[in-house]
Amino acid sequence: MLIEGGLQKIKLTRLRELASNGLIGTICPDGNYSQDIFNHIAQFTSRLHLTSLNGGAQLIAPEHPLHERDGRSLIASIKFGWEKGKGKAITLFSHYPCGMAYELGRSPQEVIFDTLSADAYLTQLLELPEEIILPLFHVDWTPEKNDNKRCRTYVIKNKCLSLL
Ligand SMILES: [Zn+2]
Repeated sequence: MLIEGGLQKIKLTRLRELASNGLIGTICPDGNYSQDIFNHIAQFTSRLHLTSLNGGAQLIAPEHPLHERDGRSLIASIKFGWEKGKGKAITLFSHYPCGMAYELGRSPQEVIFDTLSADAYLTQLLELPEEIILPLFHVDWTPEKNDNKRCRTYVIKNKCLSLL
């Protein structure tokens, strides 16, 4: 999928520009990765309005099994942040491997699909211009039995939908 261009490396300068006024969003609180993800976001801006529930952005997708229970809480938090002017950009973070995705038996492809679906749903719900929400995917590429983590963050492109 990387080779096909469905996942794209983040352009830091572009994101700093988008997030210069603050960043609203959601991440998964997974203790194995949350610090790495947080550090990544903190490079974009120091004004962070983040909500964290197990699973992160995938929960917002209307077809996700936890949409009613957790997705709606994330949406309320993001909506509040947006209406109160906490930022001009919204990041929807999912990651893999993710404990909640495992728990629900969801594959990385399904997590990517849910994150894109969350983007589309929220864009429509909050009546936002297309470019406000950035769907991001944090991946641990560390080979087994290796202590040095190799994590990367990608922007999920709509092109993924035709590749999944
Ligand atoms: Zn997780």
